[in-house]
Amino acid sequence: MNYISTRGGSESLPLAELLTRGTASNGGLFVPRHWPEASPDLLAGEYAEIAAKVLQLFGGDSLPDRLIANAINTAMQHFSAPVGPPVNTLGNNLWTLELMHGPTLAFKDFALAPLAEIIDSKLKHDGKHATVLCATSGDTGAATVSAFANRERVNAVVLFPDGGVSDFQRLQMTTTGAGNILPLCVDGDFDDCQRTVKKLYQTKAASQYGYTAVNSINIVRILLQTAYYLRTSGLIHQSTGEHSNYFVPTGNFGNVYAAYIAKQLGAPINTLVVTSNDNDVLPRFFETNRMQGTQTVKTISPSMDIQVSSNFERLLWHIKQGDTDAVDQAQQSLEAAGGYELSSAEMNSLMSDFKAARCSEPQALAAIQHAWQQHSKIICPHTATAYHAIEEMADSIAGQNVIVETAHPAKFSTAIERAIGQKPTVPEHVQAQLAQPEQFQRVSVDGVQQAIDARFG
Ligand SMILES: *Cc1c(COP(=O)(O)O)cnc(C)c1O
Repeated sequence: MNYISTRGGSESLPLAELLTRGTASNGGLFVPRHWPEASPDLLAGEYAEIAAKVLQLFGGDSLPDRLIANAINTAMQHFSAPVGPPVNTLGNNLWTLELMHGPTLAFKDFALAPLAEIIDSKLKHDGKHATVLCATSGDTGAATVSAFANRERVNAVVLFPDGGVSDFQRLQMTTTGAGNILPLCVDGDFDDCQRTVKKLYQTKAASQYGYTAVNSINIVRILLQTAYYLRTSGLIHQSTGEHSNYFVPTGNFGNVYAAYIAKQLGAPINTLVVTSNDNDVLPRFFETNRMQGTQTVKTISPSMDIQVSSNFERLLWHIKQGDTDAVDQAQQSLEAAGGYELSSAEMNSLMSDFKAARCSEPQALAAIQHAWQQHSKIICPHTATAYHAIEEMADSIAGQNVIVETAHPAKFSTAIERAIGQKPTVPEHVQAQLAQPEQFQRVSVDGVQQAIDARFG
C-alpha cells in the first residue's frame, strides 16, 4: 500500500518512508490510496497487538519483519497499563477512555512512545542516525522528550518559548537527565520556535544531523491512535451489544481522525463528536458550512488553542471523494482568503459521521465540578469540553457514549483548583522525575544551531 498527497501530484510513498515525514512536497498530507480490507479480529486483544495489526494492514510490510510488533510491545512496557488504556463505565450508557496514563500523562504518549521505538529500531536496522527537531508550546515537547530519551540512534532537540510553557511542562522536558536530549529555552514566542525549526531543515546541517520531524500530521502517529478506538469499541460492543460514540477534545483533528479510521475499518462506532473550547473554528464550521479561522484566544485547555485543524485536510480529501484539485483549491483559499466553504451535500456527508460542540470556560469549570460531584472523578480542562458536550447531547444520540480523556488533571492544577477547590495528586512516577535536576540552555533564535553543534557536533 502506498500513500499519496491530498493535493495531488505523482508522489507515492510506502509507510516506511512516512515514519519521519511531515507534509508531502506540494504541502498536502499523505493519505492511503484506499482503505484496506479489515477483519473483525482487529477489535480484540491488547493495545500493542491491535496497533501492530493496524500498521501491518496499512503497509507495515515495507518495514523489516517483526520490527513493528516488537517495537510497540517494548514501548508499552513504560505505561502504567501496558495492556492498553483503561475503559471504564460510569453507568447510564456513559464510559471513559483513559488516555492519560502514559509517561507524560497525555494521550500523545500512545502515539509518540511506540513511534520513537519504531524509528529507533529502523535506524539501527539501516545503520543510520537522526536528530528530531521539535518546536513546542508544551505537551508535544514533553511527549517527544520522554519518547526519545536515551535512544541509541536518535537525538532530540526541543525548542520552547521562554515563559510560554507551564512550570510542569518545562520540568517534564528538562529533568530526564538523558544525554541525547537537548531542551532549548528560546528567547521568543512559539511562532519564533516554529520558524527556527523550519529554517534549520533548509540548512546544510539538516543532512549532516539527519533533521527529522515527528509532528501531529504524521500518519503513523494517527494509525497508532486508531488502535485504541478499535479496542475500546470492541470492548464496549462485547459488554453491551451496542455501538459507541466518542466525544473527543479536539485541536489539530488528529485524535478524532484516528477514530474515523477505526469506523472505516468496521469498528462498531456511530457518531464522533468534536469538542472545542472558545477556539471554536470547527463548531462554527458545522453551523455555517464555512471553515474560517479567527484570532486564537488563550484558554484553560491550551492544547486545543488552535484555529487551523491541520489534519482536517485528510477528511476533506474523503469528503471531496479524492478530488485532489478541489482539496488544493480549498486549502489555498484557506491560506490566502482565510477560509473555504462546503456544499450542503458535502456537509451532509460529513455530518453522517461527525457532530461538533463548543464549551466556554465557565462551562468547562462547571463540567469539572459536575464530574467530581457525580462520579468522584477529576477530569482535565480538555476532557471537560467532552464532558460538557455529553451533558448537552447524550439524549439525542443512540448508543454508548465515551468521554475521551486526553490529559491527566494534575497537569492543570490551577484550573482544577478553581473548579473544585482542591488540587489533583501528581502520580508518583511523575513526581519522582520532576524532582530531578533541570538541564536546559537559554538561546536566541540565531543561537540554536550553535547549541546543537556544541552538544551533538
Ligand atoms: C494534543 C491534545 C489535544 C488535541 O488533539 P488533536 O489530535 O490535536 O486534535 C487535546 N487534548 C490534549 C490534552 C492534548 O494534548
